[in-house]
Amino acid sequence: MAFLTEEEPPRGVALAVLPGIRRVVARNPSVMTYQGTNTYLIDGADGLTVMDPGPADDVHVADVVRAAGDAPIRRIVLTHTHSDHYGALPALAAATGAAVYAYKNSARRDFTPAFPLDDGDEVAGLKAVFTPGHAADHLSFEYFVSGTGKILFSGDHVMSWSSSIVSPPDGDMVAYYKSLELLLDRDEVLYLGGHGPLLREPRVLVKELLDHRKMREATILEAVRAQDWTVAELAEHLYHKTDFRLKMAAQRNVLAHLLKLEFEGIVKQADGAAMEVPDEHVPDDLPPADENQVSKHQSEVLRRDAARRFVLV
Ligand SMILES: [Zn+2]
Repeated sequence: MAFLTEEEPPRGVALAVLPGIRRVVARNPSVMTYQGTNTYLIDGADGLTVMDPGPADDVHVADVVRAAGDAPIRRIVLTHTHSDHYGALPALAAATGAAVYAYKNSARRDFTPAFPLDDGDEVAGLKAVFTPGHAADHLSFEYFVSGTGKILFSGDHVMSWSSSIVSPPDGDMVAYYKSLELLLDRDEVLYLGGHGPLLREPRVLVKELLDHRKMREATILEAVRAQDWTVAELAEHLYHKTDFRLKMAAQRNVLAHLLKLEFEGIVKQADGAAMEVPDEHVPDDLPPADENQVSKHQSEVLRRDAARRFVLV
């Protein structure tokens, strides 16, 4: 796929993206987050709107506050509640008194937005587009930039540098396909994603992402037809990842594909516990850097899911 790359951006400063839009790239580069999370500063009549505060990192919060300069940060808008976007929210909201907007049904049990958004709602010129799949509470935002036209803040739903992880139960492959198809019918001229550089001609990539998933799904179905695999075995067979995070991400994606096929009545689980989500569950949204950082709860979930076995119906 035609993914983009970019040099490591300067840290601690706001970089011009489009007229009235700057980004501060958070200091959390990794194989999952690329150069770091993009925190966007959007100029408005009454001050700034911050799109995605970024990870829980006091230095990043200070960077954002400094980048705002004399302009007050009036509001904070979230694309989704994964930790690399949500983490800095409590500190930034406390430091600025900004009003917080996010999807009405938060995937985090410990967070409810003061200003809940639904599909089609508008705040400060940003129009919410419900795009679940990568995350259950994912919003993209349509926005008009004078001289450029209609753009989309696409969060982690569509990113210029990589495909997105779809990790059940928060991530849902059925929803992800639908949310990609939704974008094919829209006409934004460019996307600003949660990680990586600006994306032009965005629907070319959206189509590629969708086609790639369909191909992957066909390969998975073919493999299941040929023989019996656990999720871990199938992920190893298809992806050959050695980095722990990428290996886990591969397993989560394979599981998401199999659950989609199960939802469609094509495969079923041969064994393994049901996919019920306990009330106290907080999605561990990013696979940790290595095995030693896995919490006991997360390790249990990863182990259980890796052992699931799916067969044809
Ligand atoms: Zn992210």
